[in-house]
Amino acid sequence: MVKEDKISPGMQQYLDIKESYPDAFLLFRMGDFYELFYDDAVKAAQILEISLTSRNKNADHPIPMAGVPYHSAQQYIDVLVDLGYKVAIAEQMEDPKKAVGVVKREVVQVITPGTVVDSTKPDNANNFLVAIDFLNGLYGLSYMDLTTGEFYATSLSDFAAIRSEIQNLKAREVVVGYELSREQEQELTKQMNLLLSPESGVYEDVHLLGDDLSSVESQAAGKLLQYVHRTQKRELSHLQRLVHYEIKDFLQMTYATKVSLDLLENARTGKKHGSLFWLLDETKTAMGMRLLRTWIDRPLVSQDRILERQDIVQVFLDNFFERSDLTDSLKGVYDIERLASRVSFGKVNPKDLLQLGQTLAQVPRIKAILSSFDSPALDQLNAAIDALPQLESLISSAIDENAPATITEGGMIRTGFDSQLDHYRQVMREGTSWIAEMEAKERAASGISTLKIDYNRKDGYYFHVTNSNLPLVPDHFFRKATLKNSERFGTAELAKIEGDMLEAREQSATLEYDIFMSVRNQVEQYIQQLQDLAKNIATVDTLQSLAIVAENNHYVRPTFNNQKIIDIQEGRHAVVERVMGAQEYIPNTIALDQATAIQLITGPNMSGKSTYMRQLALTVIMAQMGSFVAAQSAELPIFDAIYTRIGAADDLISGQSTFMVEMMEANMAIQRATSGSLILFDELGRGTATYDGMALAQSIIEYIHDKVGAKTMFATHYHELTELSTSLPYLVNVHVATLEQNGNVTFLHKITEGPADKSYGIHVAKIAGLPSDLLTRADRILTDLEAHSVSLTSDKKVSPESDQDANQQLSLFEMKGINDELAAALAELDVVNMTPMEAMTALFEMKKLL
Ligand code: ATP
Repeated sequence: MVKEDKISPGMQQYLDIKESYPDAFLLFRMGDFYELFYDDAVKAAQILEISLTSRNKNADHPIPMAGVPYHSAQQYIDVLVDLGYKVAIAEQMEDPKKAVGVVKREVVQVITPGTVVDSTKPDNANNFLVAIDFLNGLYGLSYMDLTTGEFYATSLSDFAAIRSEIQNLKAREVVVGYELSREQEQELTKQMNLLLSPESGVYEDVHLLGDDLSSVESQAAGKLLQYVHRTQKRELSHLQRLVHYEIKDFLQMTYATKVSLDLLENARTGKKHGSLFWLLDETKTAMGMRLLRTWIDRPLVSQDRILERQDIVQVFLDNFFERSDLTDSLKGVYDIERLASRVSFGKVNPKDLLQLGQTLAQVPRIKAILSSFDSPALDQLNAAIDALPQLESLISSAIDENAPATITEGGMIRTGFDSQLDHYRQVMREGTSWIAEMEAKERAASGISTLKIDYNRKDGYYFHVTNSNLPLVPDHFFRKATLKNSERFGTAELAKIEGDMLEAREQSATLEYDIFMSVRNQVEQYIQQLQDLAKNIATVDTLQSLAIVAENNHYVRPTFNNQKIIDIQEGRHAVVERVMGAQEYIPNTIALDQATAIQLITGPNMSGKSTYMRQLALTVIMAQMGSFVAAQSAELPIFDAIYTRIGAADDLISGQSTFMVEMMEANMAIQRATSGSLILFDELGRGTATYDGMALAQSIIEYIHDKVGAKTMFATHYHELTELSTSLPYLVNVHVATLEQNGNVTFLHKITEGPADKSYGIHVAKIAGLPSDLLTRADRILTDLEAHSVSLTSDKKVSPESDQDANQQLSLFEMKGINDELAAALAELDVVNMTPMEAMTALFEMKKLL
């Protein structure tokens, strides 16, 4: 049996603390280092690339150990938290020199992915921590951003909605208040890569939570509060009063929809460039930028609220000069919301306060400009903006304009703010000249021409006298030290000045710190007002941003109707237009009258079907955000939701095939959509064999037509489906026009009434640059196929149950002239939907067969 090593009291303390934080890296402060032990040390050494040593090398079982210097610990903590780990910081709670026995240590904060406040997220994005709970068949979801203090809660009826909301919020950590099912846990951890933090305690705070929450909402919110208090271990005075919201108060979109519409980032690149956010972002403040994201993420459904925003955008457009002034005045505005949080978190430094002061000093100008617009809507907004003059004057009188970003170096407090501090500073400043004067005086009096005053740590200030001058030393000098060639002397007068200077230096440092803390505490009293100010400035900023974009791109103000009429004249896809340039973009009118529910869009690949559909979705989103839209005129109903199946959003991580995802999205759309929703289906059904894909597509169209009634755009390659317009009265066909001249095909990107007559897959393959003999061969095969295949556009509709369809599929195998193997390979192909590369490979294989 291995003999257990005796555990030292220090290690025992470590183990005791670690027991309470099994899921976190414990950084254990020892002098100038944070040390990690055991498994933490082994793992951290690997991740952080720091060296792994051991605590008691000669013992039977040395304890693995790794450490980071305390002054550079932050960068290591950031790395761990960024990777999704938790880090618990245990500090020394007493001066080690004065401690009896083991120094007292305690965990002062647990930093987790959802609670980090120092992280610099791109584009000032929020860092949301979500909590979920479950009670009586309902899910509660609450979330907050510790860096801004925002706090929300809602309830949801199913887990899919919870999942979508967590994805929307881009949360990295979820506080879980109930026993998750195995599948739910798998979904959250394996598929969504979230860190789960169980929490059973509920933190009661009526002031923050209010009294309008359902039980499950207040449980979720209470557990979230409990978790942040338990990990942050401090007063969180910046937490804002919880805002209760309902999903249905906003235009509903799943996360997949938002991704596929490139709302906040371009789905292909993951970057802001090429997204709606990129297009609309002319904000000048961090708060405005965050608010714009929220507006894009949650467009409104209340017409009144939309019109309120539109009114202000209109005023900004009508008054160019005033608006330019306003834009200018916003440029000097710092992130008040985050500054306020730093105050509450005890992390604020003098530079932060200076920024806050500068921002407040700017507010009166902003208010003056706002009042110059002469608009009731803006006057109302302006009335809510409080410039907080007392706070501004407190900061401007207290904080030195050259203050450093640290609170230990001094130089924080402005001269004139505190008379005692001024006195100390005078002593420090004048002490130096007094010493110079004294040196000159004593030199003259003594006749020692080389007499000078020096300073060192051990002897303090002293007169330096070389041995040859010792006989001239006056009586009032006393000896301080004797060196080989010289002696050091003091005088009573010099000692007094030295004492005063030393005291001034020490006292002023303490006093400055105390004054700074008192200013900080006074600022803390204003946190609520600062947060209100931040919100109002964010609103002004976001609206001016929308106005700038509307003006630069010639957008129009959309109007709304209750008759389900869509009439967008000469509309454009705002983002594509911006990327390719307005000259290049071909506008398209989208008109669906009250009765028309479904537009079936046919046309060749690359002709612009997707762009056309997305154009509608973006126009709706922009309109319901309160923005103007890219069109000559636009009239729209207010939609309650947008459902999409666009593009091949492969969801391999979740273990579902592309076709499964396609069907799940289709299901979500037809189950949840109402007659007030918008559905966009791009090439639905193409993920499976032609016949069952087409059968599904048709029955989905019929279902929407007969049972849902949502406005729907359905882009398809199945020309056969265009015949549905004869049996479905609320369906119309449109197609993308093509121009064929001298064997060349041009896609006009223009949507025209009626169905398309043919596909141009081989033409697209030509554009993609496939070899010409291959294309000639493809043309020949196509002609053969067209000659031999049984026409699908027979007079009966395709029905999924029909045996005849299976027979038709078999008939391909019986074709003469092409050997069976080739026929089978061809039958498998979904030519119209293949990438040029796939087409080329397939053709190559077939050629080999022949
Ligand atoms: P596929 O069926 O292969 O998915 P599609 O018909 O959906 O193709 P889109 O992806 O919408 O075609 O458009 C293809 C390209 O055509 C776009 O990337 C864009 O460059 C251009 N395009 C589309 N619409 C327009 C337009 N209205 N004006 C100018 N260019 C356009």
